[in-house]
Amino acid sequence: MIRFFNLSVKLRNFESNTMIMISNRKIFYQHIGLPSDIPLGIEIERAEGIYLYAPDGQKYIDLVSGVAVSNAGHSHPKVVEAVKNQAEKYMHLMVYGEVIQTPQVQYAYALTKELPKSLDCVYFVNSGAEATDGAVKLAKRYTGRPNVIAYKNAYHGSSMGALSFLGNEELKRNFRPLMPGVSFINLNNTSDLKEITENTACVILEPVQGEAGVMVAEKEYLHALKKQCDKTGTLLIFDEIQTGFGRTGSMFRFQSQGVIPDILCLAKGLGGGMPLGAFIASKKIMNELTYNPMLGHITTFGGHPVSCAAGLAAMNVIKDNHLAETAEAKAALFRMRLEKHPLVKEIRNAGLMMAVDIANTDKFHKLFDELTTLGIITDPFLFREQAFRISPPLIITEDEINQSCDIIIDALNKI
Ligand code: PLP
Repeated sequence: MIRFFNLSVKLRNFESNTMIMISNRKIFYQHIGLPSDIPLGIEIERAEGIYLYAPDGQKYIDLVSGVAVSNAGHSHPKVVEAVKNQAEKYMHLMVYGEVIQTPQVQYAYALTKELPKSLDCVYFVNSGAEATDGAVKLAKRYTGRPNVIAYKNAYHGSSMGALSFLGNEELKRNFRPLMPGVSFINLNNTSDLKEITENTACVILEPVQGEAGVMVAEKEYLHALKKQCDKTGTLLIFDEIQTGFGRTGSMFRFQSQGVIPDILCLAKGLGGGMPLGAFIASKKIMNELTYNPMLGHITTFGGHPVSCAAGLAAMNVIKDNHLAETAEAKAALFRMRLEKHPLVKEIRNAGLMMAVDIANTDKFHKLFDELTTLGIITDPFLFREQAFRISPPLIITEDEINQSCDIIIDALNKI
């Protein structure tokens, strides 16, 4: 009996020692489901401000904000405090929409105070994909119409619904059949607007296309689009999941363009680093999900109280420090430093949502490794070849921008 006991202890020790000996890197590659076989693959122990720190002491400047999430900077003390305070009070209580949770209602109130009267009702969900799914469901239910118009090179998430609105055939081909009745038009092409008819439930648009490589919807185009939507009774959905929370120079992109959408989708920066999404409409439109039949959209964790507490704290940091207002000048400094380099073909931006096109394909492929070695984190775009992303936390300073540009120029010279 004793022998057996000792043997099992030895076995347990052997197993736990083995576990300790396997590196996190090995576990990552063997036991984590990965969306690609070329992940960044660096291990991060701690993050603060614009910096990420590896266990070996390597310090990285984060020019991605993971993507466009950490607008107030990593581990902002006010956000961390809000998370701790809320976690000590309560975490999950009940499925979404059943009980009154202080952080959720306070965040909804603060958000709607930032927004026009027609966007006065927030449906909290978990992610960007769920927000765009929910928004399109709402539009179909409100209008009773079958069709949806989306854009070529658009990205709205990776769920079956969001894939249906994705403007890239390669990424969705293997998942067909998807949602029927979705057609795709070209951004900034006013003659395509005639595709929007009395059968169209909604048009879903990123006011700046992110994964297309920062393609800006022109102001006149947005006005013409709104006019055609109003004429045909079609709901206009803006996906501001990447453009929101100060990224493009105003709290939300639509505010600087003078076009108010019927439904606004938010995620990424909405949670201040915690998972959170939302679609926002008028109470009248939103009521469609409440009645006939009820439960038009349901979610267990949507509007999680800890995420809402973090999101509200992060939004207040952005507002109190006027971070949105600094985005365009900071982008201009990046542009001024980088555009002179012979390998830089073009820079596009809307505030601190930037894309840098590189002139040489072979050199472009070497750029990411070089930048990572030199301590810069950046990322390519899904649908724009030979471009890298600059979307740092909005708190980045002039010195930090100059330091980042020194490293980027060094990397461009080395490849
Ligand atoms: N919409 C836009 C514009 C995005 O950039 C993204 C994510 O990159 C999404 C939707 C999907 O968000 P999530 O990854 O939270 O589902």
